[in-house]
Amino acid sequence: MNILADFRTHRPATLADAVSALAADGAVPLAAGTDLLPNLRRGLGQPAVLVDLTGIGGLETISILADGSLRIGAGATLEAIAEHGLVRNAWPALAEAAAAVAGPTHRAAATLGGNLCQDTRCIFYNQSEWWRAGNGYCLKYQGDKCHVIVKNDRCYATYHGDVAPALMVLGARVEIAGPAGRRSLAVEELFREDGAGHLSLGRGELVVAVEVPPASGWRTVYAKARIRDAVDFPLAGVAVALRRDGDRVAGLKVAITGTNSAPLRVPTDELVGGRWDAAAAETLSQLVRKTSNVLKTTVTGVGYRRRVLLALAPRTVDALWQGG
Ligand SMILES: Cc1cc2nc3c(=O)[nH]c(=O)nc-3n(C[C@H](O)[C@H](O)[C@H](O)COP(=O)(O)OP(=O)(O)OC[C@H]3O[C@@H](n4cnc5c(N)ncnc54)[C@H](O)[C@@H]3O)c2cc1C
Ligand code: SF4
Repeated sequence: MNILADFRTHRPATLADAVSALAADGAVPLAAGTDLLPNLRRGLGQPAVLVDLTGIGGLETISILADGSLRIGAGATLEAIAEHGLVRNAWPALAEAAAAVAGPTHRAAATLGGNLCQDTRCIFYNQSEWWRAGNGYCLKYQGDKCHVIVKNDRCYATYHGDVAPALMVLGARVEIAGPAGRRSLAVEELFREDGAGHLSLGRGELVVAVEVPPASGWRTVYAKARIRDAVDFPLAGVAVALRRDGDRVAGLKVAITGTNSAPLRVPTDELVGGRWDAAAAETLSQLVRKTSNVLKTTVTGVGYRRRVLLALAPRTVDALWQGG
């Protein structure tokens, strides 16, 4: 770890103040800092000012709207989401994903906004300054070569956030505030398949809240495979929303994380209307294989990560299906 570089901090009390502070050159939002600060300690980034969002009143609120939707402020902690009775009952995949992030001390402080917007990861990037200098840096930061994919067309660092795929299968939308006002995006539209620019946020924009529609009729789950169960990023994470009508699949949504530079929906339309059986499970594995792009971005071998992912997806649907 390096000594932290010099930066200023600013702790606005209102969203409007935060937006105007973030419009300045080199301004970066800071929530609980569990992702950002370790990166800065490694010399990854040189912000001029950290705009601390924790002073904005109401940003941590979790509420149920008149139409039954769930609204969660970007400043809500993962612990609050994981332990919220209504979330656990009505949107279990979301509570499970929040509970699966890192360890209890992280979750007590770490926020929804920070979880969604966390940086992508790579063994050639999440290293100390001297390690990266010894390798000539890389094109995600300070260098011009990718050590993972030699064609150098973009950065392939992997997104390992747990919560985004759960929100994606739940059909959630993210509310964004910025210099041009408010806008709302489907959660999948917040992300891009580019490890060096994986968020579609413009300059000065920040995530304000997430809205999740009622999940009536859907059974949902989030499953995560990791090396150390106590504290670890997902080797592979799979979120599933399933509607069952007798022995037919009436609806199926699957999203994956830990595989690409963005969390991704797996196209599952061809499985809807059919039975859930061994052939369907194999088809789902193939669809996941086509969607994912597991590369040498973590210390765990690529072959193992792929096998885990391809087994985890059908197994997760199976568990929901058996549950009735
Ligand atoms: C040991 C360890 C294990 C971890 N394991 C996991 C894991 O298993 N799963 C997982 O998902 N994560 C994991 N993390 C990463 C991190 O702890 C979590 O993602 C956490 O939720 C980040 O939230 P935060 O509030 O601390 O974000 P911060 O670190 O404050 O911010 C993260 C990023 O988001 C930006 N940001 C923050 N809030 C907003 C906002 N409202 N709008 C726009 N941008 C914003 C920041 O500028 C920064 O770039 C781990 C981290 C550590 C150190
Ligand atoms: S994928 Fe390539 S460019 Fe991106 S962080 Fe890894 S080595 Fe760097």
